[in-house]
Amino acid sequence: MATARFLTLALVSALTFIACANGKLSYANYAVYRVDITTKQQLEVLQHLESLPNGYTFLDYPAGVNMSVEVVVPPRQFLDMELLFHKHAIQHTLLTNDLQQILNKERPARKMAEGFGWDDYHTLEEIYAWIDDMVSQYSSVLSVETIGQTYEKRDMKVIKLSYKPGNKGIFIDANIHAREWITSASITWILNELLTSEDDRVRHIAENYDWFIVPVANPDGFAYTHTTERLWRKTRTPHNLLCYGTDPNRNFNHQWNNGGASTTPCSDTYAGPEPESEVEVSNLTTFIRSIAPNVKLSLSIHSRGQYVLLPFGYNNAPRAYNYQDLMQIGQRASVDMYKLYNKPYRVGTTADVLYVASGISVDWAFAVAGIPLSYTFELRDQGEFGFILPAEQIVPNAEELLEAFVAMIDEAKILGYM
Ligand SMILES: [Zn+2]
Repeated sequence: MATARFLTLALVSALTFIACANGKLSYANYAVYRVDITTKQQLEVLQHLESLPNGYTFLDYPAGVNMSVEVVVPPRQFLDMELLFHKHAIQHTLLTNDLQQILNKERPARKMAEGFGWDDYHTLEEIYAWIDDMVSQYSSVLSVETIGQTYEKRDMKVIKLSYKPGNKGIFIDANIHAREWITSASITWILNELLTSEDDRVRHIAENYDWFIVPVANPDGFAYTHTTERLWRKTRTPHNLLCYGTDPNRNFNHQWNNGGASTTPCSDTYAGPEPESEVEVSNLTTFIRSIAPNVKLSLSIHSRGQYVLLPFGYNNAPRAYNYQDLMQIGQRASVDMYKLYNKPYRVGTTADVLYVASGISVDWAFAVAGIPLSYTFELRDQGEFGFILPAEQIVPNAEELLEAFVAMIDEAKILGYM
């Protein structure tokens, strides 16, 4: 029985794969539900469902009870899902019955201008070409380095901005989760500001710190979200016929697989067969180790939900040794971000305010690389569009993030870190 069920699921998944093999998966008539987890039994049912190649896409990992997750359901599986909700008395809300309609609002109807800009999202090739352009325009302060290649042999690039020797360093990665397009869009906008802004506060942080920015930390997954499946999250390493990808932000070698991660290869939070199994993660850690002694602030940019998160995320983790300072700096960022467009960002440890998650970069950077100030940003929004944030919000969201950078550096300086 279980085997027959699995074979059916495998077939459905294979058909889904074939359906999108010729091009981009359409989400026409796909539903999105918000599902409340209130009992351990419901949690187990949802975790099991999440781990199978069955066509459902969980936009959040069901990490524990008393949390809600969003699930994308293909039209042919509405009935199955409703039956499951009923059987296990799972409270749920239908957020949309046509996800494609939300996707249609993500990009502008027509291109506003030629060349690179922030009124639309860009492909990896466009981002890399823009970086090369900027490096040739600002060659005295800006350089780009390839820190390794991905599983599918794409370059992983880090941008270095340095106005003078002796600066302390700031490390930033974005788009390690493939579908979080707003993160690379925001960070490229900020890089442009660091180079061109005439605002004194921006000039101060640009010129007095060395910036190391990985704008797309998961190039294979990111490329796949553009060509094939917009909501893809992981890397593209194959594990078996049906299951691809490891969650790179569960693959870091610190408290690996200690809560909020999956051991099943089809899961969207699969921690990988071992810590640092993903070449993308080992490229990042090798690079971060090489600069870490001089880096005081490490930022990992994600979406969505509007959070400023500090270590730690794993099960039953202790408080960081400088928890009070981390909170104070995070709160200052949140307060200053709110002043701009009244968007609240919640501050706290990953485990306290979001959910338990282990093998994550923010914890690794803090505990292993020894970077004293380490944060994850979860950018906009809080539910309306989720990962599919309309491009018209790129600039305002990036402005908020730049405000956070200015605030954090200022507060860190007051506390003697930078
Ligand atoms: Zn993420």
